[in-house]
Amino acid sequence: MQTQTTEYYLKSAQGKEADNIIRSCVHCGFCNATCPTYQLLGDERDSPRGRIYLIKQILEGQTASHSTQTHLDRCLTCRSCETTCPSGVQYGRLVDIGRQLINAKTTRPFTDQIKRFALRKLLPYPRRLATILKTGQLLKPYLPKRFNQQIPDRQKPRMQAEHIHKDPAQTRKMLILQGCVQSIATPNTNSATANILQKLGIQLISPKQAGCCGAVSQHLSAEQEAMDFMRRNIDAWWPDIEQGVSAIIITASGCGAMVKEYGYVLQHDPQYADKASKVSTLTKDISEILAAEKLPLERIKPSTQNIAFQSPCTLQHGQKLDGVVETILTRCGFKLSHVDDAYLCCGSAGTYSILQAKLSQQLLHNKLTALQKHQPELIVSANIGCQLHLQSQASVPVKHWVELLDESFI
Ligand code: SF4
Ligand code: SF4
Repeated sequence: MQTQTTEYYLKSAQGKEADNIIRSCVHCGFCNATCPTYQLLGDERDSPRGRIYLIKQILEGQTASHSTQTHLDRCLTCRSCETTCPSGVQYGRLVDIGRQLINAKTTRPFTDQIKRFALRKLLPYPRRLATILKTGQLLKPYLPKRFNQQIPDRQKPRMQAEHIHKDPAQTRKMLILQGCVQSIATPNTNSATANILQKLGIQLISPKQAGCCGAVSQHLSAEQEAMDFMRRNIDAWWPDIEQGVSAIIITASGCGAMVKEYGYVLQHDPQYADKASKVSTLTKDISEILAAEKLPLERIKPSTQNIAFQSPCTLQHGQKLDGVVETILTRCGFKLSHVDDAYLCCGSAGTYSILQAKLSQQLLHNKLTALQKHQPELIVSANIGCQLHLQSQASVPVKHWVELLDESFI
């Protein structure tokens, strides 16, 4: 696509990058066919091709409007369009830049600003989140159903992580990100991971100083704040990286997609660029680790339940790991049912379920209809956001797939 980006934007690294991305788009519209918001709303401005055009208009000097901001806000950043695009357009990066450009030129309604600020000050901080969650869990029986469903039940890990990590004979060491929401809402995910990896002779290390991966701030266009979270994690992990850990394991695919981009986001930071790049190279989703290991199949007794796997967008589109979890589970003998339109987002998408509640609920309804079509007894996911979102309305239990695997060891 030809562009007439103004000198003002071409002088900035971001503007130049956005211009290059737009020029790689040939305007074919293939991506529109797999865009969840275009499927729901049928408006070209709510499609990837339309949003690319809206960002192009900003770069060419047109006045940034609230209408443009709304169409960009409605994008889930699910990156399904990237998977479909035959020209390799980096839409995810483009929409991040587009949002920052438009946010710098327009003012949001006050209530929207408050919501976004509150999310940034709550979600990435496990202690604050734990206080809110515990209060919600105490009040849960007294709340109306529509609120009550949003609060996950208290989860106790089957085995405390500190009881798992301590075998001195284990020489293979890997870092694990505890995460913010996951560490509070579903601590069993990482303890199940530690338990499985211990059986494979891998010891996990989790420095306390590491925290949120930065995705919440990044998706709310607070890029400097996101970079601070990234630098903090790099500092926390670096001593163990220098000691030779072989991977940084992430069990929430949303966080994994973010950490794999540290090298890209911090490329212009002279102090952190090299370290960030190393961190991104070492980062692996737990499915990548288990796919490369020889699993002791003789010690796994798969449940006979009919199971539906929800493949998070951050796993299949963000990290390009489509089919990896399904292959592991099938190899271990689990029965997975077919899920229609598995490429579509469930509507969780970070803070989208709160900021775009109506669209998010429509997508959730569609996703659960697809997941529950063949009457599964269990739904498994690979990302905490999707897991909690699905759990709020699903008629069967929802858990992380590593919990299922861990429970199946004999
Ligand atoms: S599929 Fe790719 S090249 Fe075609 S319109 Fe969409 S982003 Fe542009
Ligand atoms: S990221 Fe998802 S919602 Fe956004 S334009 Fe692409 S396909 Fe549509």
